[in-house]
Amino acid sequence: MWNNILDTGSWQGEIWNKNKSGKEYPEWLTITGLHDSTSSQVHHYIGVFSDITQHKEDEKQIRHLAHYDALTDLPNRTLLDDRIKQSIIFSQRHKDSFAVMFLDLDHFKNVNDSLGHNTGDLMLIEVANRLMTVVREEDTVSRLGGDEYVLLLQETDSAGAAAVAQKINESISAPFILQGSELTISPSIGIAIYPSDGHTPSKLLQAADSAMYQAKDSGRNRFQFFTKELFESANRRLEVGNALRGAINRNELELYYQPQLNINSGSLVGCEALIRWKHPQLGQVSPKEFIPIAEDNGQILSIDQWVLFQATKQIEAWQKQGILDFTVAVNVSANQFHHQDLLMMVREALDEHSISADNLELELTEGLMMDDVEGAITIIDKLHEEGIKLSIDDFGTGYSSLSYLKRFQIDKLKIDQSFVRDITTDPNDASIVDTIVALADKMGLKTIAEGVETKRQQDLLIQIGCNEVQGYLHSKPLPVAEFETFIANLQSV
Ligand code: C2E
Ligand code: CA
Ligand code: CA
Repeated sequence: MWNNILDTGSWQGEIWNKNKSGKEYPEWLTITGLHDSTSSQVHHYIGVFSDITQHKEDEKQIRHLAHYDALTDLPNRTLLDDRIKQSIIFSQRHKDSFAVMFLDLDHFKNVNDSLGHNTGDLMLIEVANRLMTVVREEDTVSRLGGDEYVLLLQETDSAGAAAVAQKINESISAPFILQGSELTISPSIGIAIYPSDGHTPSKLLQAADSAMYQAKDSGRNRFQFFTKELFESANRRLEVGNALRGAINRNELELYYQPQLNINSGSLVGCEALIRWKHPQLGQVSPKEFIPIAEDNGQILSIDQWVLFQATKQIEAWQKQGILDFTVAVNVSANQFHHQDLLMMVREALDEHSISADNLELELTEGLMMDDVEGAITIIDKLHEEGIKLSIDDFGTGYSSLSYLKRFQIDKLKIDQSFVRDITTDPNDASIVDTIVALADKMGLKTIAEGVETKRQQDLLIQIGCNEVQGYLHSKPLPVAEFETFIANLQSV
């Protein structure tokens, strides 16, 4: 300090001082030498200081927040990453393995929605506490946000990880008493093992994450190890998701149309618009593959909008050619259905192409309506008022409650292809179709069977009393020009 003052005339820095009551505190001190204007001789020193206790505490708190989750006080993503890196170094040296476990609570959203965020928060804290009691001291329990936790289990192989996962399942599945109510919840767990499943924190987390999704897919409340197949499918999903970005702008999407016929007269009553995507490297990718990916990564909204716009444009073109005396059905995804602008989007598409609403039909799935029944009824009522036709796609595969069904203003049930496929060989399927048709009749709804491939299937469907048919027996989905030829041939028969 003195050297500095003599050299430069001043000093500043942090020192420990004592206050009058004898308590030590950190102080920020600045000392400046004073001299006359005529000489360089210093005759006084001025010291200015401030107590920086609070500042120090704030700094500590900020450092803590940077590494710990504010709600549960568990390590956060940053600290977890760091610990995984340490484990990698340690395990490399000792030729050892460790486990990264991704845990997500099943249907946690229901807790928040029905009991409020306060109760939800209490549950997250309690889950954190339970997880801490299951693992060893050297392990890490972290929270990434929401209801997602990641555990790092040191020096653990797959047998060890399975044992811990089992214990976690038991611990989390025990009832919670929160603000007077008793609740239960189950976890889905994905497990990745170093070094076989990845060599970096992000690879390991990604592997555990996809294993967790697999666990959810196969029925929740279970654990699942990362596998080669999962690795490949996770990679493919990423690849397809990335390739899909910009597919609309690059003009890679196209709509095909599959005829829907009156099952008795064979006349054309409608068609279903089905999307096709051809990517320069990946080639033709099935909508069965890319639609669910687009639903996950949010691209579905712009795709659905494109489909709606394209289909209404086509309706206008057929109208102008004077060949339009049928409806065009468009598939609606859950995201689009629950989007507040659906009605506006439909209106815009109709106005833009100046077509009447009753040429357009929207295909909704049961799941999308049953998620939020009251909300669905409101939306369906509005679409119905507009004059748009509505059908329930894949009927029979969801969990439609019959009491709700009669409150939906719909026109048609589409009997799912899984029942049609075995209708001639499996009596169960035949009686399911029979029941659906009887139900629809009672409620004044039309029925269409999809995936009809053989004459025998169609004959049985006629016998049962189904109204309409769609399937390879009559035609595959066709590009516009071929669809127009199909119509022309029908009329000339
Ligand atoms: P979906 O709505 O149930 O469509 C029927 C699927 O069955 C279509 O497959 C169609 O090509 C196929 N199919 C039709 N007749 C037969 C048959 O006789 N036998 C068999 N085995 N299959 C038949 P596709 O075109 O691959 O579409 C698959 C799914 O992708 C659709 O199922 C739908 O959920 C979704 N999808 C297709 N286009 C769109 C779209 O524009 N928007 C949205 N959101 N989803 C779409
Ligand atoms: Ca459909
Ligand atoms: Ca369907």
